[in-house]
Amino acid sequence: MTSYTVINPADESEISSIELLDVDATDEAIAAASAAQKAWAGVSPADKAQLLRRFAEAVDSDREHLAQLEVSNSGHPISQARWEAGHVRDVLTYYSASPERMFGKQIPVAGGIDVTFQEPLGVVGIITPWNFPMTIAAWGFAPALAAGNAVLLKPAEWTPLTSIRLGELALEAGLPEGLFQVLPGRGSVVGERFVTNPTVRKVVFTGSTEVGKRIMAGCAEQVKRVTLELGGKSANIVFADSDLEKAAATAPYGVFENAGQDCCARSRILVERTVFDRFMELLEPAVQGVKVGDPADEATEMGPLVSAKHHAAVSAYVPDDTNVAFRGSAPTGAGYWFAPTVLTPTSRTDRVVTEEIFGPVVTVLPFDDEADAIQLANDTEYGLSGSIWTRDVGRALRVARNVEAGNLSVNSHSSVRYSTPFGGFKQSGLGRELGPDAPLAFTETKNVFIAVD
Ligand code: NAP
Ligand code: MG
Repeated sequence: MTSYTVINPADESEISSIELLDVDATDEAIAAASAAQKAWAGVSPADKAQLLRRFAEAVDSDREHLAQLEVSNSGHPISQARWEAGHVRDVLTYYSASPERMFGKQIPVAGGIDVTFQEPLGVVGIITPWNFPMTIAAWGFAPALAAGNAVLLKPAEWTPLTSIRLGELALEAGLPEGLFQVLPGRGSVVGERFVTNPTVRKVVFTGSTEVGKRIMAGCAEQVKRVTLELGGKSANIVFADSDLEKAAATAPYGVFENAGQDCCARSRILVERTVFDRFMELLEPAVQGVKVGDPADEATEMGPLVSAKHHAAVSAYVPDDTNVAFRGSAPTGAGYWFAPTVLTPTSRTDRVVTEEIFGPVVTVLPFDDEADAIQLANDTEYGLSGSIWTRDVGRALRVARNVEAGNLSVNSHSSVRYSTPFGGFKQSGLGRELGPDAPLAFTETKNVFIAVD
């Protein structure tokens, strides 16, 4: 077995060594999951619900520990990491209501009755990225388990610790052995095996668009179900009639949260030309006010980038001769620090405008009118999220209906709530997670006709 040394991105210290599974170990886990799923499908809806609530309670009891693990493994600020652990609990609680509400339909037909059943798929493989390890995992495993499936979770190699802990908590809460297993390993080994092993009936993938396309192509071999949550290059559209002070004060948090390592990051700020200069004057102190530093500090708002490799990738977008509008602050010394950076490129086709940087780098561009704003917002292969700032409710709705993205917010930057659907248009993804319908995505609809004569 090979192993991976987990590094603390804030000080580059070694935290622990994790054994990585090979293909044979993955196949054994898949077989065990398949056996566990058959038993789970027979557990009564009320008992399934009860076990999911116990899992939620176990997560709640371990919240501080989970948060501290994410601080040291991923460099997330402690206040954010606590929210994430609480969010996992909330997602489990929300979907604990589902086993008792997996309603089919009764459809009027001639000669008998017709009913539909939502049957579990069987074994589901979830592949997560390193940016929000525990929350993204929960968006998959909670509704999948609730719908009667077994779940295998492959965390990103860089950030396995909270996922491993969630696997332990599931067992402590009384979930049957084998039903929810966490499998640390390489994407090209464990993740790839979810795609090729026919016992896995669905792959839920969150990560880069590049790998997502490969997974989708691989799943096509078996017509395997797939959900994809991929990249983004979302627009934050600021109209002249908006509360400009509020738009500028919040814009840094719409993009620099989690050091910009957020698929929903509003990494393109589009500002109506007549207020562009004023907006930039307001944005500068807001960016400089972002508290970047030790993730363990309660006051910290932004931590380091996740790894040396990722730091190099982000840095490549801002070479030394870049004309930077202004920067925020960042610690120096050990750790993968990158100061919040604001660019005002002159071309709409510059690669900093079109490519997902996935770091604390934002571009600000002017637009002429509503039509130009919509055209510019949609001029990307992505379509995940976005924000619209205006006091004109008609315009807010017109623009919201015309921006090709799955998650939009007006006069705010909120995007993820467990009770509302989340996912992308275009190359940002396929399918939706969260919200009331998520468990249905882990079922097949079966139709049964019963003759009365
Ligand atoms: P990534 O390189 O695509 O990796 C994501 C996951 O896929 C990791 O667990 C990785 O394993 C695994 N993987 C890699 N190659 C694989 C293969 N051939 N077969 C199966 N699995 C494979 O993405 P990332 O760099 O970790 O994450 C950043 C990206 O995720 C960004 O593009 C971001 O926008 C996107 N993202 C999207 C959402 C959303 O909800 N839409 C949320 C968060 C992040 P290893 O760690 O072992 O490489
Ligand atoms: Mg990668």
